[in-house]
Amino acid sequence: GEKVGFLTLEKIHVFYGGIHALKGVSLSVDKGEIVTLIGANGAGKTTTLRAISAQAAVKEGRIVFDGQEITRCPTHEVVSLGIGHVPEGRKIFSRLTVWENLELGAFGVRNKERIRDRMGEVFDYFPRLKERLNQKAGTLSGGEQQMLAIGRALMGEPSLLLLDEPSMGLAPIVVEQIFEILGELNRRGMTLLLVEQNAFQALQLADRGYVIQNGEILLADAAQALIENEEVKAAYLA
Ligand code: ATP
Repeated sequence: GEKVGFLTLEKIHVFYGGIHALKGVSLSVDKGEIVTLIGANGAGKTTTLRAISAQAAVKEGRIVFDGQEITRCPTHEVVSLGIGHVPEGRKIFSRLTVWENLELGAFGVRNKERIRDRMGEVFDYFPRLKERLNQKAGTLSGGEQQMLAIGRALMGEPSLLLLDEPSMGLAPIVVEQIFEILGELNRRGMTLLLVEQNAFQALQLADRGYVIQNGEILLADAAQALIENEEVKAAYLA
C-alpha cells in the first residue's frame, strides 16, 4: 500500500473563531528525519504544531502518529505517545528552578530513578543546565532558557520533537549552538519537526522542508532544493 509517514497530517483545517488559520494542511515526517516548516509571520506555523499536540482544535482532517490516529487525542495523551513540544517563546516557569522545570517535563513518570536517568541524558546535551540546577529559570540567559525548554520536552521521552522557533531572540552564535545540539539529537535517533522564521539556518539543518503561506502549503521539497529555489530565495532567504 501507500507509504505512511511517522507523522502524517492529512488536509488539516483549524479555525480561531472566524479566522481560517489552516486551510487543508498536509505534511509528513518520516522516522529519523529533520523536517522544517518555514513561512512568514502569521502563515500558520505555530498553529500547525499546536494542532499536532492538540492545543488547537482540528475542525477537519486527520493526524496520524506512529500508526495511530491522534486527531482527537488530548494533549497529555499525545505527549505520552511520544510527541514533545517546545513551544514558541519557550514558556518555562521563571520562578521555578532548572531542576523543577525539568521535573515538570517528566510529569506522569513517578519512578524517581527514571527521572534522574532522564535528567542525566538531558545534561549530556546541555551541560550548562547541570551547572545551574538550583538557579531560577527566569535568571537564565535566553540561550539557556531555550536549552531548558528543549530539555524539559526531552524529559517526556519523546520520539518526535516539535520545535517552535528555537532561534527566536537569540544571538547568532547561540543559535548556532542550539542548532548543533538539534543535529546531535537527530544523529542519536530523534525525529524533528522544526518551525522557523530563520529559514536558511533551518533548511541547512533539515532533510526536507515545507513552505506555508496563508494557512496553505505552497511548496514541499528537499531542503537543498528549497535553498536553491528562486521563489524561496526571494521571499524567505533574502
Ligand atoms: P508567527 O511566526 O508570527 O508566530 P505563525 O506562522 O506561527 O506566525 P500562527 O501563529 O499559526 O502563525 O497564526 C496563524 C493565523 O492564525 C494568524 O492569522 C494569526 O493571527 C491567527 N491566530 C493565531 N492564534 C490565534 C488565536 N489564539 N486567536 C485568533 N487568531 C489566532
